[in-house]
Amino acid sequence: MNASSQKTYDVVIVGAGPAGSVLGYMLAGKGIDVLIIEKQKLPRYKACGGGLTAKAIEILPFDISGVIEAYTYSAEICINDSPVFYKTLPCPAISMVMRDRFDHFLAEKAVAQGASLMDGTAFNSLSGIPGNLVIETTKGTFNTRLLVGADGVNSRISELLGLRIRRKTMIALEGEVYFKTIDALNSFRQKICFDFGVIPKGYGWIFPKADHLSVGVLTTLKKAGHLKQHFYSYLKTKRLYSNTETRYLKGHRIPYNPDKKNIYANEKGLVVGDATGFTDPVTGEGIYYAIKEALIASDIIHKAVQADITHLNEYTADLNKEFFKEMTCAARFANVLYNCPALSHKILEAHGTKLGEYHLDIISGRQTYGELYKKLFNLPGFFSMLKKTFFSLPNRSIK
Ligand SMILES: Cc1cc2nc3c(=O)[nH]c(=O)nc-3n(C[C@H](O)[C@H](O)[C@H](O)COP(=O)(O)OP(=O)(O)OC[C@H]3O[C@@H](n4cnc5c(N)ncnc54)[C@H](O)[C@@H]3O)c2cc1C
Repeated sequence: MNASSQKTYDVVIVGAGPAGSVLGYMLAGKGIDVLIIEKQKLPRYKACGGGLTAKAIEILPFDISGVIEAYTYSAEICINDSPVFYKTLPCPAISMVMRDRFDHFLAEKAVAQGASLMDGTAFNSLSGIPGNLVIETTKGTFNTRLLVGADGVNSRISELLGLRIRRKTMIALEGEVYFKTIDALNSFRQKICFDFGVIPKGYGWIFPKADHLSVGVLTTLKKAGHLKQHFYSYLKTKRLYSNTETRYLKGHRIPYNPDKKNIYANEKGLVVGDATGFTDPVTGEGIYYAIKEALIASDIIHKAVQADITHLNEYTADLNKEFFKEMTCAARFANVLYNCPALSHKILEAHGTKLGEYHLDIISGRQTYGELYKKLFNLPGFFSMLKKTFFSLPNRSIK
């Protein structure tokens, strides 16, 4: 875990979250001399549901079953605590990790592949010229040909590289909820819950872990006042208030809806993960995007290191090609869901079964938001859905 000062690397990555560590793993595997610096000592706690979708697990370049805490097979969607969708699947809907163990495991994988890692080391400043950059950290100065910002939603590296990144942010508050008696956890095992109507312009979730629940609320409101109040009233609604203890209650921003004109790379380096702003605007899922971007970036960095740093410019177009259209469709769904709750809740009450199934298909990677958009908004289909929404009884008795 040590690296001597003044050493020259091909690539320095700032941040050992999923984006930084997967990129470090991929680059080291291609024979690139890479250093990852992480300001916190690993393993470190990170406020996160720790829900890994099947599509995220599928693209990871190695097996992670050793750090999966729990598998969930059932999914429930509620509006104002009434179920509008419930389904049990033959294979896991979402696999659960705790981010301290998961992220540490990813960083160790990168090191085993040949990357250098310095945790407990914060990035301080950047100087030098393209192709010969100087990175100052709290534990020494390094030279590098390229710099990567995997430093999360509040990325400083993107600014220092001179990139242009505009995106919105939602805010989430999450706690690790422990029952006073472990048996009480049993009725929550293997089931993920998504609750609408518990917080304005957002939702609440309950994700079961090995010995507790990760419970959170998020909102797309710009000024998220009273977040703690919403969190505790959500616990009360789900009958999780008096019989539990909440630890690590922490808020954090999640980026979404990045601008089409963003520039994610230049001749000095690039950004990956939350630093780019791509996450699912409906759910806030970000780990899949962090991994996928690391995979895309690793090929481009490889070319840049081998041949010519101008290859880095391809990265912006590649990210937009991979995500932009799909995220624009997802943003339309998120817009109706969060900004028109009277309409969206009515639609969910009337069509919860179908929409819940569609969403599970999207989570697992069997369907895209783009395909769903086409399916729902072909004209006759759309009008028939509206008719059914406003002239049918809600299907609340699903469970
Ligand atoms: C409450 C909440 C719940 C969520 N739940 C889910 C979920 O269930 N599933 C899902 O897929 N996504 C979820 N997300 C989103 C997910 O957490 C992020 O998308 C993901 O962590 C992005 O990974 P990353 O590697 O880009 O950044 P991060 O995981 O944020 O890692 C960035 C790292 O950079 C380090 N760093 C920052 N600055 C410096 C510096 N100057 N020097 C050195 N190191 C630095 C930080 O310490 C950190 O370790 C959730 C987010 C929140 C807030």
